[in-house]
Amino acid sequence: MENYLKTSYCVTKSYQDLLISIVVSVYNEEDIILPFYIELNNVIKDLKKYNFEIIFVNDGSYDNTKNILKKLSEQDRKVKVLNFSRNFGHEAAMIAGIDEALGDFIICIDADLQHPPQKIKDILSKIEEGYEIINMVRISNKRERIWKQFLSTLFYKLINKISTVEFEINASDFFMISRRVAKILRNNYRDKIRFLRGYIQILGFKRGTITFHAEKRFAGESKYSFSMLFKFALGVIFTFSNLPLRIGLYMSLFSFFFGLSFSFYSIYMKYIGREIIPKGYTTIVVLISFFFSILFLIIGIIGEYLRMLFEQSKDRPIYIIESKYHNGKIIK
Ligand code: UDP
Ligand code: MG
Repeated sequence: MENYLKTSYCVTKSYQDLLISIVVSVYNEEDIILPFYIELNNVIKDLKKYNFEIIFVNDGSYDNTKNILKKLSEQDRKVKVLNFSRNFGHEAAMIAGIDEALGDFIICIDADLQHPPQKIKDILSKIEEGYEIINMVRISNKRERIWKQFLSTLFYKLINKISTVEFEINASDFFMISRRVAKILRNNYRDKIRFLRGYIQILGFKRGTITFHAEKRFAGESKYSFSMLFKFALGVIFTFSNLPLRIGLYMSLFSFFFGLSFSFYSIYMKYIGREIIPKGYTTIVVLISFFFSILFLIIGIIGEYLRMLFEQSKDRPIYIIESKYHNGKIIK
């Protein structure tokens, strides 16, 4: 009996039958795929009571990634490969993997060994405890560039302050979701401007965290530049917080009281005070430039929301699959 899942939706299913899908997105990782695959296989070969499928999503790589994955899929029946028609980005690749996964539980993991495959064992024990969502949280990333760590923590603190949701600080793209959580992500949450690891933190369900030490990238360079991360962070702030939309409202209140007190001051000076109001050029310049900067900020924010509405209203796919490899077959 102890061998039966505690989660209410599949109480009759034993661990033996469980299929675990491992989703790995790769973009120009020719030096990394094999070491990653070997390490992953070393972990899962000991976990005999589960079945596994490994879904590699090739996010438009232009190096040898595609060929290496093709060979792997021919040698190992567990391996499925989705080739995108071009680069759509890490999140789109994870979404495609989740869409394709047949598993009862799905684990998303990076290929560069910064997310230790060893931790999959811990995730599986959490599954046995009935968890449906597991966030993997980095507790140290000493080898990561300092600015990246600092900005990441700052970003999470800021978004937690200005939005109604509470994100796990230093959550990563290493996570586990159950089949029914995946179903929600497949049917809803198809936003064009997204924050996948954020979504899984606001869906509810029995959610747990596991900490891990992020290792140095096994080989190659990070695919994210500062400006990409900045744009990504702005997208999250604009989609999860209403503060930017309210800045205009707050500023109008501020400028109303500012103007009111300035008017009272001028009237007082004119009729009661002894000093002549300085017909100050400086004051006017300061006021005009101050209020204009606010005005432009607000116009900028509205522009940003319009851009997002425009993006969302375009009914374009999150990703396009060019071909699939499985069981030695190429599906186009
Ligand atoms: N990746 C991807 N598409 C991209 C960029 C990255 O599929 O456009 C993959 C990449 O191959 C790796 C994972 O996403 O497996 C994480 O990327 P990276 O290590 O560059 O990000 P970082 O760890 O620096 O945040
Ligand atoms: Mg990495």
